[in-house]
Amino acid sequence: MNIIYNFSAGPAMIPKDVLQKAKKELQNWKKLGFSVMEISHRSEDFMRVAAEAEKDLRDLLNIPDFYKVLFCQGGARGQFSAIPMNLLGNLKTADYINSGYWSKCAFIEAKKYCIPRSILIKKTINGKTSLAPISTWEISKNSAYVHYCPNETIDGLSIDEEPKFKDKIIIGDFSSCILSRLINIENYDLIYAGAQKNIGPAGITIIIIRENLIGYASKMSPSILDYKIISEHNSMFNTPPTFSWYLSGLVFKWLKKQGGLKKIEELNKIKSNLLYEKIDNSDFYINTIDHKNRSKMNVIFNLFDSNLNELFLKEAFQSGLIALRGHRAIGGIRASIYNAMPLEGIASLIKFMSYFENRYG
Ligand SMILES: *Cc1c(COP(=O)(O)O)cnc(C)c1O
Repeated sequence: MNIIYNFSAGPAMIPKDVLQKAKKELQNWKKLGFSVMEISHRSEDFMRVAAEAEKDLRDLLNIPDFYKVLFCQGGARGQFSAIPMNLLGNLKTADYINSGYWSKCAFIEAKKYCIPRSILIKKTINGKTSLAPISTWEISKNSAYVHYCPNETIDGLSIDEEPKFKDKIIIGDFSSCILSRLINIENYDLIYAGAQKNIGPAGITIIIIRENLIGYASKMSPSILDYKIISEHNSMFNTPPTFSWYLSGLVFKWLKKQGGLKKIEELNKIKSNLLYEKIDNSDFYINTIDHKNRSKMNVIFNLFDSNLNELFLKEAFQSGLIALRGHRAIGGIRASIYNAMPLEGIASLIKFMSYFENRYG
C-alpha cells in the first residue's frame, strides 16, 4: 500500500503510534476482555483514564492549580453558546474580535444572548492580508469579556502574540491550535478547543477555565453547558464521550514522548516554514498573508491559474496526498498540518508541488 498523508482540517489525522496502540488494545483493554468503550464512565478503570488524561494535559500546558480543566460535549460551537451563558453576568455586551470565519461564527451565536460588539481586525492592503496587533484592539469598557480566535482554521490566519489585558476576561478559541505551541495559560481566563483538529477523535471539547469564573451561569443555561455543574460532576454530569476521552489521553502521552510542546512547537515551525518557502519561491503558487499572521496549522494557498485547482487536487490524491481541498467558503488549496503530520508528509507534498509545477507551470 502507498503511504497516505492526510491533510484534512478536521476531523484530522491522528498519530500512527496512537492508532496502533488503540488497535492493539481495542478488544482487550488492560487484559479485561472488553474494550474501553464498553465500560461505565464511573468505573475505577475509566476514572483512571480520565484523571491521567487531565494530568498529562496539565503537564503539557503547565496549567496552574487555580484553573479547572473540563471535558465537555457540544464541540466548539457548543462553547459559542456556553460562553455568553456562563460569563455575561449582568452585562449586556461582549467584545468579539473578528479575524475570519470561526470568530465571526462565535459573534453571530452570541447575538442570541447579548448585544455583542464585533471588532474587525482583518485587513487587506495592496493584496496582503494581515491582522491588527493586539495592542491596537479597541476593547469596550462595559464588555463582559473579549473573545478571539488565535488560529482561523479556514482563513489560514494566526495570532501568535498573547493577549495581556488588565481587568478584562479574555477567551480564546484554540480549536485548531491547542497543543501546537507553548502558551502562558495565565494570559487567558478561558481556553476551549474541540478535539478533532489537534487532539483526537471528534466528540470531546476541552475547556481550561480560571476557577473563580465558575458559578455564574444564567438560569436558562442547559445543565450540560453550565460550567459549575460540569465541574462539580468532574465532567461526568452526563455520559461523556469515553472513547474520545481515552484516545485524547493517548495523544497527550504521545506528545510527552515527543518531548513536550517545546519540541512540538519547533517541529511545527520547521514544517510550516518549509511549505511557505515552497509557495513563496514560485510564481505558480500564491499565499498573500502577512508572514506574521500565517498559520502554522492550516497552510492555505492558490494556484496562479485557478483553472488548474481540480487537476492539482486529483493528481495529489492519486499520489496519496489527500484532503487538500480548501474550505468551500474560500476555495483554493489548504494543507492542514497539525501535530500528527510528520515531516515526511510535508516533504512529500512539496515534492508533488514541484513535480506539478514543472509539468503545468
Ligand atoms: C472547527 C472549529 C470550530 C467548530 O468546531 P465544532 O467542534 O465543529 O463545533 C470552531 N472554531 C474553530 C477555530 C475551529 O477550527
